[in-house]
Amino acid sequence: MTRDAMPFSKQEASTDMFKCGKCKQRKCTYYQMQTRSAHEPLTTFVSCVHCGNHWRF
Ligand SMILES: [Zn+2]
Repeated sequence: MTRDAMPFSKQEASTDMFKCGKCKQRKCTYYQMQTRSAHEPLTTFVSCVHCGNHWRF
């Protein structure tokens, strides 16, 4: 699914830095996005390749 309502350039990368809380696998992709204003920290979105779980922090 693609959405064109996202005005950010999205850089997605696969990583084993994160561990899925559901399936305990380390097959995740993540991307970081600046939400709203520049003084707010980047939000990191992670999705699990293995089970489709996703979270952010
Ligand atoms: Zn998972």
